[in-house]
Amino acid sequence: MNNVMKTEFSALAENEAFARAVAAAFVMPLDPTVEELTEIKTAVSEAVSNSIIHGYEGCADRNEAKVIMECTISDGGKLVITIEDNGVGIGDVEKAMEPMFSTGDSEERSGMGFTVMESFTDRLKVRSEIGKGTTVIMTK
Ligand code: ATP
Ligand code: MG
Repeated sequence: MNNVMKTEFSALAENEAFARAVAAAFVMPLDPTVEELTEIKTAVSEAVSNSIIHGYEGCADRNEAKVIMECTISDGGKLVITIEDNGVGIGDVEKAMEPMFSTGDSEERSGMGFTVMESFTDRLKVRSEIGKGTTVIMTK
């Protein structure tokens, strides 16, 4: 039987740490190494911070703006983490995923979030539609 966990939270900066902690607690039964746990937490942080910073950029009501995280552990011990927002969406996903590509403030953003997610997981899939939002699916 699959073990599924789903949580929805406001797109507030402080909830990045919340999402990391929840994901880390959920994967404990898989008995991850310290390194694996760090990778999972970092990948979750990058996806959640993207939703908060880019997905809901310019959004006035941050309580209404929601990020949804769903984690599934399958029978075989495979982990799937989905991070979803209903924000502005990404026009060119392929371009957005290029290392060092960023539409953010160049002093704060390095454009390495997707690259980090890719290197810390086995598989990364990004679905996005302008005006509808973005879903990031990571498998490990
Ligand atoms: P860093 O993650 O290094 O701080 P960054 O967030 O700009 O910088 P990435 O995480 O790789 O870099 O994202 C690349 C670009 O993709 C972003 O600059 C943004 O334009 C777009 N993007 C990523 N996630 C989303 C999202 N959830 N909604 C809208 N746009 C996004
Ligand atoms: Mg980022």
